[in-house]
Amino acid sequence: MKPAPFEYIRPKSVAEASVALGRRGATTAAIAGGQSLIPMLGLRVALIDLLVDISRLDDLKAVTETPDGVWLGSLTTHSQIEDGKTPDVFGGLMRRVAGQISYRAVRNHGTIGGSVALADPAADWPCCLIALDATVRVVGRSGVSVQRVADFIHDSYATTLTTGDIIMGFDIPAPKAALRWGFAKVARKSGAFAHSIAVVTAAGKDGPATVVLGAAGPRPRPMAATANQLAVPATTEEQLRAAIATDLDANFEGLDAYQKRMHTANILRAARDMRTQ
Ligand SMILES: Cc1cc2nc3c(=O)[nH]c(=O)nc-3n(C[C@H](O)[C@H](O)[C@H](O)COP(=O)(O)OP(=O)(O)OC[C@H]3O[C@@H](n4cnc5c(N)ncnc54)[C@H](O)[C@@H]3O)c2cc1C
Repeated sequence: MKPAPFEYIRPKSVAEASVALGRRGATTAAIAGGQSLIPMLGLRVALIDLLVDISRLDDLKAVTETPDGVWLGSLTTHSQIEDGKTPDVFGGLMRRVAGQISYRAVRNHGTIGGSVALADPAADWPCCLIALDATVRVVGRSGVSVQRVADFIHDSYATTLTTGDIIMGFDIPAPKAALRWGFAKVARKSGAFAHSIAVVTAAGKDGPATVVLGAAGPRPRPMAATANQLAVPATTEEQLRAAIATDLDANFEGLDAYQKRMHTANILRAARDMRTQ
C-alpha cells in the first residue's frame, strides 16, 4: 500500500523541529532513519498529517567520549556503532548488538534514537541501554529532561515522549571496571526480530552483575534474582535456572512452558558467553 497523503518539512534546528512537532490540531511524527516509520506509513498503521524530517540535524549527530562515559546523539546509526566509529568503553558489547540488528541496509539508516523512541518490545537497543544503565536526554516544549532508559520506556511501544519532544541522545556511563558481557538472541532467521534477547554484564571480575531480558513482554525487564545469583562465585546452572524461573514469574505475565524454556536457555547462553571472558 501507499501512505496516505501527508505534509513534509525539514526544519533547520531542533527547536524548529520541536515547534513543528507540536503543531496544534495535527498528528505529527519525527522521521530519523525511516526504517520503522516508512513501513508503518505504507501499511497505514501510522497515519500522520505532518512528517518532520530530523535526519540532517547536526545537533543530533554528536558522538563523544565524556569524562563519565559516552554520549551518542540520537541519529547515531546502527552501522556506525557496528563499524567501531563510536567510542567503545563497553568491551565490544555495543558493536555486537549493532551487528545483529536486521540487515546491513537497515543498519545503515536505522538510528539508536529511533529504536528507543519506537520502543518495540523486541528491539535490541532498549535491552542493551538498560543493561548499561544509560540515560536519555529529551528536548521538548517544556525544556530538557533526562531519564533512565529503564524509566523512559514504560510499556509496549510506549515511552514518556509527549508532543513536540525529540530525543537528543544517550549518556552511557563507563563501567567502573573492564566490562564483561554476554549477549544472546533467539530469532527465527538471521536479521529477523528476536523472540528472546538476553544481555548480561558485570564490571570487573567480581563486580555486580546485570541481566536484562527483552522480547518476553511489553518492555525489557531487569532480572534481579538472576543477576544476584550470577554474582555468586561458583554458582551452578541449577541455581541459575531457579533464579531465572523466579524472575520470569515476577516480571512477565502469561509465558507458556515453551517460552519459559526458550528464555531460560537464552539467558544461560548469554551467561556462558560472559563467563568465557
Ligand atoms: C526489516 C527490518 C528488520 C528489523 N530488525 C530489527 C532487529 O532485529 N532489531 C532491532 O532492534 N530493530 C530492528 N528493526 C528496526 C530498526 O532498527 C529501526 O531502525 C529502528 O527501529 C527505528 O529507527 P529509525 O531511525 O529508522 O526510526 P524511524 O523509523 O525514523 O522512526 C521510528 C519512530 O521513532 C520516532 N523517532 C525517531 N527518532 C526520534 C527522535 N530523535 N526523537 C523522538 N522520536 C523519534 C519516529 O517519530 C517514529 O515514531 C528492523 C527494521 C526493519 C525494517
